[in-house]
This record gives sequence, C-alpha cells and structure tokens, in this order.
Amino acid sequence: MLINPETAWPEGVVARYLTVAGATVDIHAIGLDRQTGVGTVTDITVTAYCQGCRQKNVSTYLGMDASTLGDDFFASSLCDDARDWAQTHAEKCRALPRPEVAQ
Ligand SMILES: [Zn+2]
Repeated sequence: MLINPETAWPEGVVARYLTVAGATVDIHAIGLDRQTGVGTVTDITVTAYCQGCRQKNVSTYLGMDASTLGDDFFASSLCDDARDWAQTHAEKCRALPRPEVAQ
C-alpha cells in the first residue's frame, strides 16, 4: 500500500524530508510544561530522525516561554539545527527504510 506522507504524518511531526533513497527524515517537536517559581516554562525537544539509517539529531531548549514561539514553530529559530541536519542528511543518505510489516 502506498502511503501519502502528507496525510500520514505521525503526531508531533512538524516537517518531513525525503532522502535521495526514498526514505524520510522526520522532524518531531515535543514541548513539556514545567512550573517554576516565576511561572510556567516549556522544555522543548526537537528531534530529526532518519527512517532509513536511524540516525538522529536532537536539540533541547529548556525553560522556553511558549507564548513567544508563534504559530509556525517549524519556521522558528528553535528548528534551525534540526532543519539543517535534516536537509544535509536527506541529500546524502542512501539507506532504505525498513519495509512495513503487514498486520
Ligand atoms: Zn539516513
């Protein structure tokens, strides 16, 4: 079965890159709210993960103010590292994704 990546993105995936071999590199973003003495802050983890070779790049930003992030999280500077890594990786990775096992 063909899966359309645009309709089958897992929850938390903010961007997806296609590698030269046809695998995908997914960028996930997870935010966890945390109470501090001065209010609520958000710890954000941005992960770029290659489905082909299973390498990943993780960026963590602790104590962020979620209200300053804006609507387009992927366009924000918090995704700079993940975006660069995913773009560079997708251009050179030749690992194929492991086939889905039929249920
Ligand atoms: Zn890869």
